[in-house]
Amino acid sequence: MPRVIPAEALSFVRGALDEAGAVGISVIRVDPTPQGPRVQFEVLPLRRRRGDTRRLPDRGVIAELVSRMVALRWKDSPEPRGIPEHHQMDLAIDHPRVIGDFTETGPGWHWLLSAAASWIEETGVPAGFRSVQVKEKFGTLRWYVCSSEDEDRLQAGRIISAAEWVSGAVCETCGAPGKTRTGGWIRTMCDAHAKRPG
Ligand SMILES: [Zn+2]
Repeated sequence: MPRVIPAEALSFVRGALDEAGAVGISVIRVDPTPQGPRVQFEVLPLRRRRGDTRRLPDRGVIAELVSRMVALRWKDSPEPRGIPEHHQMDLAIDHPRVIGDFTETGPGWHWLLSAAASWIEETGVPAGFRSVQVKEKFGTLRWYVCSSEDEDRLQAGRIISAAEWVSGAVCETCGAPGKTRTGGWIRTMCDAHAKRPG
């Protein structure tokens, strides 16, 4: 199993939560599974200073989603797998109840969206669930859904929110660790694609 996997997984978590938000999260081990190498994180409760009212996502959900995404990215491969050529169509075909229609996102978020959609299917797609739009805005993922249940209180809502946070750490072009860069364009890219877009 490639030795870079735990470091890469941790860099996605740190990129999603920033350094302070990722305090107390570490990699325990990596388990080979049929779904790919699964990074097991330890997520300690975050001690927050009194008066700290920053809105933070569920760190356990972020870590689990990153683990699932990294597993897909490295499945059966000594290096990160290539993104399927028809990634938008593949997502719609593989996850009709969750994604349904073509996404408007770049290829680099393919494993992120695949991991999130599969996890939502495992936990149970909420009644009347439908993705209205899956797109990029200001460099990160916006995933709009509707549901006849209150999705914010459901696991599906937590997974979608985590996917939006994690997108800020994933190059939208290639799926490598990246960061959201401001400038003429606000885009989340790895170092290589920041120099040479596309
Ligand atoms: Zn890239």
